[in-house]
Amino acid sequence: MKSELQAFIQKYEDTIRPIMKEYTTAMWNSEISGSEEDYAKVEELGIKYTKIFTNKEDFALLKKIKDAGGVKDSLLDRELTVLFNAYQRNQVDEKKLEEIIGMETKIAKKMNTYRATTEKGDSLTDNEVEEILSTSTDNKKLEETWKAHKKVGQVVSADIIALVKKRNEVAKDLGYKNYHEMSLRLSEQDPAEIEKLFNELDDLTRDGFAKLKGQIDSFLSKRYNVPIAELKPWHFQGRFFQEAPKIYTLDLDKYYKDKDLVKLTTDYYASLGMDVKDIVDRSDLFEKKGKNQHAFCIDMDNEGDVRILCNVKPNYKWMNTMLHEFGHGVYDKYISRDLPFALRDPAHTFTTEAIAMMFGRLASNAQWMQDMLGVSNEEKAKIKDEAFKYTRLEQLVFSRWSQVMYRFEKGLYENPDQDLNKLWWDLVEKYQLMKKPEGRNEPDWASKIHIATSPCYYHNYHLGELLASQLNHYIVVNILKQDDINGASYYNNKEVGKYLMEKVFAPGSKYTWNEMIKRATGEELTAKYYAEQFVEGL
Ligand SMILES: [Zn+2]
Repeated sequence: MKSELQAFIQKYEDTIRPIMKEYTTAMWNSEISGSEEDYAKVEELGIKYTKIFTNKEDFALLKKIKDAGGVKDSLLDRELTVLFNAYQRNQVDEKKLEEIIGMETKIAKKMNTYRATTEKGDSLTDNEVEEILSTSTDNKKLEETWKAHKKVGQVVSADIIALVKKRNEVAKDLGYKNYHEMSLRLSEQDPAEIEKLFNELDDLTRDGFAKLKGQIDSFLSKRYNVPIAELKPWHFQGRFFQEAPKIYTLDLDKYYKDKDLVKLTTDYYASLGMDVKDIVDRSDLFEKKGKNQHAFCIDMDNEGDVRILCNVKPNYKWMNTMLHEFGHGVYDKYISRDLPFALRDPAHTFTTEAIAMMFGRLASNAQWMQDMLGVSNEEKAKIKDEAFKYTRLEQLVFSRWSQVMYRFEKGLYENPDQDLNKLWWDLVEKYQLMKKPEGRNEPDWASKIHIATSPCYYHNYHLGELLASQLNHYIVVNILKQDDINGASYYNNKEVGKYLMEKVFAPGSKYTWNEMIKRATGEELTAKYYAEQFVEGL
């Protein structure tokens, strides 16, 4: 078995390495050029890349070894598990897979081209809807805009239910109860374990959130001149109440308006003993015509060619984004090259998200702003109070929203025939404390595009936040030996850098995510440090 597996892995590496580099190069080029020709190349190479994992004989071999109990060599056995999972998710009946891709594309197109139409006949993009919801104080206009946007749910809800059923069919073919269970298990998440974490998080955030929600309600009641009991979903300054309404005044942009964000990023990571100059050199960090307007980090070859795409402007948002993306960057860069190729990935997508979030949070951290921008002690004290309040509100609002998303998707795949409109509003009322407009019975859940296009993934964003807080706690208490959980920038501390590189980055996916976390922090993933950071003292 062992030699058979070794021979397979050798063949696998020889096949995937050149295709991966070709594929990631095409992706990188298309994101920068935006040209049709480059996108066509990505599609073609994407199919070639996926074909590696749809191979039936290869999967049969992996399954045979797995069913026989794996191999003794623990590193090789870990490779077996990682490869088995990667192949299994692609062992889907080709016709069904094509149908699913077709359904997803159709829904995405309907949603992307949908325009909310007002009574006057104006048609609004999602950005325009968000703009009105966050700035207007005209109650009639707010209600009309929110309702016009939610109509997209009626346009796609039947398509989404059909897609969910098709995804469930595929999951059942592969031996799973439903698609939600399959998605979690194939990314090494035990559904019971994730449920436990979200329950723990719910217990720890419920009262704190209720307090903040009280503050939000009082503020919004005054702003819109309606009694608290009459506040409606369109008063929460966004389509889903997933972001914090602007109840505090805080201007962080002014601290960044004449700064060199690339230099700040490079200097900061260098102070931790992490050299990112090579990443900067390969990256594309400023706006260009046709270029992707967002930001991402990509590991091109699992050999150290790590690149970042940004559209840097001297403001707070982009400082946060630069620290975030370079957090992904250092993780990828410092994964040990001694590991076999198949294990040179982060332990989980949410563990690299956690590192990115932990560093991204520093852009509004008063200590960091003093270390990197030289703000005075007086200024620092002022920022600390205001920025922390703002971050806490952002965190708790997002936390309750992700409870809704996680639980809705779980329920959706367990029983797509239930009253989904009711399920959605029951969850919104319970976790976000936002009241359903009286008598409303519409598929408002279907207006969230992730449900259709990025299924069963949303909970990972929040697991990233939990781990970011857990790592911060470990560093502050055990390495910096400080008391103030929210007061550390880690600046100029090579011990912190060494800890992250050795305990978190270097092991790649040699261990399962929870084993890596346990080895790095002494505990499995828990919500208690997130609560310590953002709920305590409320
Ligand atoms: Zn990220």
